[in-house]
Amino acid sequence: MADLDTFREQTRRWLDANAPAEVRTPPKSPDELCWGGRKGTYSPDVRRWLAVMAERGWTAPTWPREYGGGGLSKAEAKVLAEEMAKLRLRPPLTGFGLSMIGPLLLQEASEELKREHLPPIVHGRIRWCQGYSEPGAGSDLASLQCRAVRDGDVFVLNGQKVWTSYGDKSDWMFILVRTDTEVAKQNGITFLLMDMETPGVTVRPIRLISGSSPFCETFLADVRVPVRNVVGRVNGGWALAKALLGHERTMIADVFKERDGAQRLVALAKKHLGERDGRVADPIVRDRITQVEMDQSCLDLTLARARDGAKAGHKPGAESSIFKYYGTELNQRRRELMMSILGQQGLGWEGEGYTADELGITRDWLRSRGNTIEGGTSEIQLNVIAKRVLGLPD
Ligand SMILES: Cc1cc2nc3c(=O)[nH]c(=O)nc-3n(C[C@H](O)[C@H](O)[C@H](O)COP(=O)(O)OP(=O)(O)OC[C@H]3O[C@@H](n4cnc5c(N)ncnc54)[C@H](O)[C@@H]3O)c2cc1C
Repeated sequence: MADLDTFREQTRRWLDANAPAEVRTPPKSPDELCWGGRKGTYSPDVRRWLAVMAERGWTAPTWPREYGGGGLSKAEAKVLAEEMAKLRLRPPLTGFGLSMIGPLLLQEASEELKREHLPPIVHGRIRWCQGYSEPGAGSDLASLQCRAVRDGDVFVLNGQKVWTSYGDKSDWMFILVRTDTEVAKQNGITFLLMDMETPGVTVRPIRLISGSSPFCETFLADVRVPVRNVVGRVNGGWALAKALLGHERTMIADVFKERDGAQRLVALAKKHLGERDGRVADPIVRDRITQVEMDQSCLDLTLARARDGAKAGHKPGAESSIFKYYGTELNQRRRELMMSILGQQGLGWEGEGYTADELGITRDWLRSRGNTIEGGTSEIQLNVIAKRVLGLPD
């Protein structure tokens, strides 16, 4: 305990001395976080924060030191998270590298792939995207058709992926391809790592109702990917695909949670609906805010328990569907509430009649519609929970 107290003291002092001003405020949306990568442009403060934290391996605090991680114990990582929260510090880095492909590589990849890919993730040098969905394979992912045919030391890829989040901003993709058409569909899938700069890869952004283009179509025409980039074994990709979805679903529940959400909701309600005796004037809105925040606290605590379990070596299993389902449905409730607080100020798309904050709330509300689709729809999560968590009959 004395060691942990010393670690806490040193950590607090180091964080306070090294965190630049800009990262001492919670981000309003995931877009304000640092996602790293060769194509990302970030302010000097954000870049400096990433550099100093990555230098200590604290972008991935519990990953082993030999792969660039912090090598912290579960207890030390908890202390680091607590001290960062006290100073209201933003995470130095986010993205699919840290939350999805990194944990999978740690569990399943060869030593060679770990040494090649994990350090660039820790330092935010490479940004990753996910090539799972296809026009004919979403919920029924195992039906994917993107073909990979072996030619000596390479696989030649042809086909199309869709809904590739940040495909245009990413440097590498982890991709599921069909390597055998003669066996049951789950048994002919391989998990590959693909450099997005490889000739034959074309990425086209898809424009959404919110006005932004966070995801893309990815076309593959005779793309040559080395066989050494296979994670696990050829035709053994389905088990890895599902393991990664466990990491993804936990991450989605976490990433959309609103840091500082309670204060923001209360301030918004006081501004638009008035204040009485220091409280939000409208008792019904007060009640709705309380409900959302109580549910958020329960989810946060359950996620914290799952994170502790993960650090102790428990792989995320089917129960990650509970976090995904609940976190995304809750985020939609929060966005609906914000829109009803705004009233007609929530109807703006652009123009002088609306503040930047109001326009942002409207767009975030529109964006939240996709939360219950990405990473597997709510209906699919409920199916997984029914069958694999509760053990209900088909
Ligand atoms: C914002 C966003 C980001 C995304 N990012 C990525 C990404 O980075 N990479 C990637 O590969 N994919 C990504 N996706 C794709 C996402 O994984 C798929 O959209 C999702 O899995 C659903 O597949 P689908 O769109 O083909 O819908 P479908 O599978 O066609 O489903 C249509 C409807 O039928 C319902 N349904 C289907 N099967 C069942 C069933 N068995 N029981 C009950 N209901 C069912 C679904 O719930 C849904 O309501 C993203 C999607 C969104 C919205």
